[in-house]
Amino acid sequence: MNPSPQDTALQAAGATLHGTPAVPGIAVASTIRPAPRVPVEMRSVAVAESDRHAELAHFHAAATAVGRRLRERAARASGAATEVLAANAAMAADRGWLGAVEKAIATGTPAAVAAVAATDQFAEIFRGLGGLMAERVTDLRDVCDRVVAELAGAPEPGIPAPAQPSILLAADLAPADTAGLDPNLIVGLATSLGGPTSHTAIIARQLGIPCVVAVDGLDEVPAGIDVLVDGTTGQVVIGPDAEYVDRALTTYRALAARTAAWTGPGATADGHRIEVLANVQDGAGARAARQQTPAEGVGLFRTELCFLDRESEPAVAEQAALYREVFDAYPGQKVVIRTLDAGSDKPLGFADHAEEANPALGVRGIRLAARDSAILDRQLDAIAEAAAGRALWVMAPMISTAAEAKSFAGKVRERGLVPGVMIEVPAAALQAEQILEHVEFLSIGTNDLAQYTMAADRMSAELATLTDPWQPAVLALVARTAAAGRAAGKPVGVCGEAAADPQLACVLAGFGVSSVSVAAPAVAAVGATLASATLDSCRRAAAAVLATADPGEARAAAASVLTP
Ligand code: PEP
Ligand code: MG
Repeated sequence: MNPSPQDTALQAAGATLHGTPAVPGIAVASTIRPAPRVPVEMRSVAVAESDRHAELAHFHAAATAVGRRLRERAARASGAATEVLAANAAMAADRGWLGAVEKAIATGTPAAVAAVAATDQFAEIFRGLGGLMAERVTDLRDVCDRVVAELAGAPEPGIPAPAQPSILLAADLAPADTAGLDPNLIVGLATSLGGPTSHTAIIARQLGIPCVVAVDGLDEVPAGIDVLVDGTTGQVVIGPDAEYVDRALTTYRALAARTAAWTGPGATADGHRIEVLANVQDGAGARAARQQTPAEGVGLFRTELCFLDRESEPAVAEQAALYREVFDAYPGQKVVIRTLDAGSDKPLGFADHAEEANPALGVRGIRLAARDSAILDRQLDAIAEAAAGRALWVMAPMISTAAEAKSFAGKVRERGLVPGVMIEVPAAALQAEQILEHVEFLSIGTNDLAQYTMAADRMSAELATLTDPWQPAVLALVARTAAAGRAAGKPVGVCGEAAADPQLACVLAGFGVSSVSVAAPAVAAVGATLASATLDSCRRAAAAVLATADPGEARAAAASVLTP
């Protein structure tokens, strides 16, 4: 149970909790927390006939209140969140559903039981219809849960709809919850679980919500108190005083001003080119990156994220249409598309994943093609169709050996495309020279490279210090890979979350990488910070970092060289 503000030592103004920075930025606001679902005892006693009229009125008032709140939220939200919330509001007023509940109440069923029973009945029908209707089952249950809570006089379950900008505190969030967040209302995010490279953090970054993950002691911070979330330093400050807020905001605003003024293209202060690219997951994301950032192209198109909800493999023509949307967002510019990285924390319904004891060490990414290459072949056909003669860059995830790289490169070249591979496995970093004999470029995935180098699950909060992208052992492998690329005269980029940390991006430039690719909201801060450092200072920071023994030392070593 959460302690009240009265009985927690955290009430002490200025108490600071430490977590792992995930999305840079500062937010100061009152906290909210997801509320639990209200359980319904389905074998409740029947409502007396004389009370049924009142029960019906109680239900109508609850459904109306929920519908109204969802409509208000929809009006305040933006983008896809508006549509989802408006559709849910309509569901709370759906005649068929309301009618089924009313009928049951009329025969003495308590309103909450009637709502759950009607929802079960409709869920069954929706599932039977399949497709889009089946996908609405979760929404219907969400509406029902809200009505049940309203009937019980309890707070709305799930992520509350705040009336004013708030900071969301939670143990962790499902990627779907994070995707539905409205950045105008949820201005900061702090979780006690999750790592900086978990997909939840990646989505928060795409929404541009300052976020700190794996925060020690966060579970004891109640809703309804003011906190400051600093997504740049990883601090969560309870009840910060005005002076502290001012200082934090001044520092952040200086970076923000540099960031806002940066228009690209990517280069150090003395003109050494480092391409600054965007990570995207679909056409809408690519168009937004194009319109809202100075990114010079796409350095990582995570194709598997287009298909997380699909049970069957999309046809080649459908895939080609999706890929074309991303290619068309950057006509004539660089686009690096990654073949499906299915498995581990991103299983795909059509990828034939077997039960595995250790999915992160199992048949994921390119390894699926060794079992059956048909899905990969069809995806490459779709990419070639969408490329329509453009020499697009195509890379494979989870390469461990030069033989895997060779086989993949052959398939890509056959289709007139440019082959590359991701370096995410320490073995691949150690074999970078041999791998480069077969491909035209490398792209370092620091999220998985950290996970596999440190033998620490990237999703584990407890191990977040080990998967910190500033771990010197991980950076040594990055440096080694970049040096191999330079010796071979072939480009090496970094597309993992390490590149989104502006100071670390300078260190990567010092290692000699030729591009960095980051979530769209991080593009300008990375570009502006690179533009403020000379190549020589990046190189000195890189050398200093490699001589350290832990992430804290590494950050301090880089800062002492790079901070003006
Ligand atoms: C990585 O591992 O760094 C990467 C970019 O791939 P993903 O995060 O999609 O696994
Ligand atoms: Mg990866």
